[in-house]
Amino acid sequence: MANQWIAGVDLGGTTTKIAFITMDGEIVHKWEIPTDNSNEGQNITTNIAKAINEKLNQLGKSNDSLLGIGMGAPGPVDYETGIILNVVNLGWKDNYPLKESLEAAASMPVAVENDANCAALGEMWKGAGNGAKNLVCVTLGTGVGGGVIANGSIVQGKNGAAGEIGHITVIPDGGAPCNCGKTGCLETIASATGIVRLANEELLKGESKGELAERLAANGKITSKDVFESAENGDALANKVLKEVYFHLGFVLASIANTLNPDNIVLGGGVSKAGNILLDAVTENFAKFAFSAVRDSTKLALATLGNDAGVLGAAWLIKNKLNQ
Ligand SMILES: [Zn+2]
Repeated sequence: MANQWIAGVDLGGTTTKIAFITMDGEIVHKWEIPTDNSNEGQNITTNIAKAINEKLNQLGKSNDSLLGIGMGAPGPVDYETGIILNVVNLGWKDNYPLKESLEAAASMPVAVENDANCAALGEMWKGAGNGAKNLVCVTLGTGVGGGVIANGSIVQGKNGAAGEIGHITVIPDGGAPCNCGKTGCLETIASATGIVRLANEELLKGESKGELAERLAANGKITSKDVFESAENGDALANKVLKEVYFHLGFVLASIANTLNPDNIVLGGGVSKAGNILLDAVTENFAKFAFSAVRDSTKLALATLGNDAGVLGAAWLIKNKLNQ
């Protein structure tokens, strides 16, 4: 199998990332294609199969140089059947047989898992998890995703919906509406969207001076990056917002760690680009709420794979399946 590869696919609402990866987890080629969600998403799997075939041809490789495809998809997935239960922005109807559809299009074995779980597997395999068998991964992006790995396996739950850390309630009364239909979820606070929302609420209270207010006046809007940068430069309002974010994240992660005592909790996604400022402040809050034996053993870390976590974790899935 030395010259053979596996493919990792990270399916997103607008673009799909694809990579050819060695059995040791080295990325050989990676590229992106647009996700075509028209026509009830019927072109998605054929486009992926076509892109993979074309790339193999370009590289002068035969189809049997590729042993299988692992794929991460944005929604709850039943891993055994490869059925994606429901998904909002890809056009598919509920209970879409994703694994079967891609296997038919690509004529090779396929494994499918939720995308946040794939990111967690990627970090376990080649990233901040560094091979740890017990790992919790939190992706702080537009939303908040989560993946829980126990004894080297993803915790799937009864309905593929385990590890939905973003939808843990942190504001029981009067919280902001969440995409999931509830209110007050962690996602409404600790996602990039949530941070901007909190900052805008503070700014609307009026008479606010300072860097963040100036950035809003200059650009007509602010991003989570503006909040972090203004906070770093001493802006009181931005610091107040982030203090709230760090508190809720630290609190939730300590509660999760008190349940699972993982080796690592890995913070990934766009918001984690804030780096050690975020890590240190969340760790400080985590330490307040973690049970002592948990606090002394579970380590918080920043994700190291960036956008590659998803394709690597997806590839790990199919590798693991082929090895069985
Ligand atoms: Zn929610």
